[in-house]
Amino acid sequence: MRRQLTGAIAAPGMALGRARLVQPNIFHVDTTPLRSEEVEAEIEHLHMALDTARQELHELRGKLHGALAREVGDFIDAHSLLLDDQELLRGLDELVRVGHYRAGAALKLQRDRLAAVFDAMNDPYLKSRGEDIDQVIGRVMAALQQQASAEERKLASRVGEILVSDTVAPADMANYTGHGLLGVVGSAGSVYSHSAILARSFNLPMLVGVRDALSAINDDDLVLVDGEKGEVIVHPTAQDLQRYRTWQREAANEGRRLARLAHAPTKTRDGVHLRLFANAEQSSDIAQARNRGADGIGLYRSEFLFLRQRGLPGEEEQFIAYRDVLLGMGGLPVTIRTLDLGADKADAAGLVIRGEDNPALGVRGVRLSLRYPDVFSAQLRAILRAGVYGTVRILVPMVTHAGEMAAVRALVRQAREDLRRQGHELPERIDIGAMIEVPAAAIGVRSILEKSDFLAIGTNDLAQYVLAADRNNDALGDLYDPLHPALLRVLGHVISAARRAGKPVSLCGEIAGDPIYAPMLVALGLCEFSMHPSQLLRVRDKLANLDHGMLRALAPSLVRCYTRDAVEEQLREALERH
Ligand code: PEP
Ligand code: MG
Repeated sequence: MRRQLTGAIAAPGMALGRARLVQPNIFHVDTTPLRSEEVEAEIEHLHMALDTARQELHELRGKLHGALAREVGDFIDAHSLLLDDQELLRGLDELVRVGHYRAGAALKLQRDRLAAVFDAMNDPYLKSRGEDIDQVIGRVMAALQQQASAEERKLASRVGEILVSDTVAPADMANYTGHGLLGVVGSAGSVYSHSAILARSFNLPMLVGVRDALSAINDDDLVLVDGEKGEVIVHPTAQDLQRYRTWQREAANEGRRLARLAHAPTKTRDGVHLRLFANAEQSSDIAQARNRGADGIGLYRSEFLFLRQRGLPGEEEQFIAYRDVLLGMGGLPVTIRTLDLGADKADAAGLVIRGEDNPALGVRGVRLSLRYPDVFSAQLRAILRAGVYGTVRILVPMVTHAGEMAAVRALVRQAREDLRRQGHELPERIDIGAMIEVPAAAIGVRSILEKSDFLAIGTNDLAQYVLAADRNNDALGDLYDPLHPALLRVLGHVISAARRAGKPVSLCGEIAGDPIYAPMLVALGLCEFSMHPSQLLRVRDKLANLDHGMLRALAPSLVRCYTRDAVEEQLREALERH
């Protein structure tokens, strides 16, 4: 019988396939105690399973090539390290030897203990790292059961399948895509997880938080994942399948039509040229940006380098990463944002201050970087050195006042002098810009402009601070509204100030990549948009249908609107008139 489940959209698109349930965290274990004479054999059994799990990870690592090797390799390494963790191993041995637990029961007990430690953490990033424990223990558990039954081996081939699990490790996600995985349904997980980011990069529809997925879906059930509506249909009807086929046809047509725009200029119907940049977190985004004719990288989120690994990346490692981005963009400008750790982004190396009462208003972005001048200077040195391989700009996140920009400029000057003395080749000049995402910086933008060569507006954060609505809190979805008149006024003020000062201003929040908001942004005078590369063609297409002159004329009355409805109505009327 047809059943419909709902969840949050972690990656869009639709997919039809047979369900393959992987339940690493639902452990059915034999809890009868071992007899003394069984202990040694059980220890051996356990260690064989640990070896199998290590071997699997090793093989997975070997299968990764190119960008994947770098992006996913770090996660695999982290899991391999856990498998060699002496405390974990000692604990397991002790449970079997002293407590006479069977291997499965010992694994479950260790998993529960560690999960409780991670669960008690306030920090959302560290909490999410608790998933790693589950995934590693799940892998060993599967290896234990493999020794008992060949049944588990079917997990290896997943052609035409939809993975249904609680959470999926990024390493597994990469492996499954190589085997024709079509979509992912998670009963837990978050749209901000690394797996969700990878799913988007792989164009794999993914829903998370589908609460009943593991009880309502059985192995081999036919399921339709609808990453457009946020629905999973179990046993879809003929009508559902019809809808899926219509979507497939439309998506294919749309893809072909948009592909023609890949190297078309970005201009409005009345011929005004605008610039589209890409936001990038990983190297595959660079290739996508090039393929879709981006004018450059408008936001390179450098903190992802710090989030992927346990230790801090040093100057050399960062230099190589930045240089590769610049080389990949073939001379087009690349804007590297300095570390934006803090709030929901906590590094494993421990730079971020733990346990702040209100981390979104805490020591994050440039506030954190200025606390660690050595770490910050290493990053600035790496960016300066990479600058000879292309056109690089430095973007400073979470700026609140001009003094922070002055401090960053002083550190850049110092890094430049040190590097020159050490004989490094350096670019002639590097533009340094401020992100406008704190209301104080937006309101006092003129003083920030005096210390900045360009601005990038971060509406993801600016909206949450102007509206006092947490960007990660689903319950505030209605309040977190990019068309709120107050936000419009702030955006209008910042864009006008930059234009008057003759300095470039771009917008790199999510709304830049959503065609719905393009008319409003054009009306406010925005000429540079930066977005996930997958959105570039859609936005270019939308802009080609807009009349720049007409929208600009609308600006004064738009920023005087009192309500969201009035904003929408003005835009709708104007678009209909033309
Ligand atoms: C923003 O705040 O709009 C932004 C682009 O930065 P991030 O989403 O990385 O905080
Ligand atoms: Mg931000």
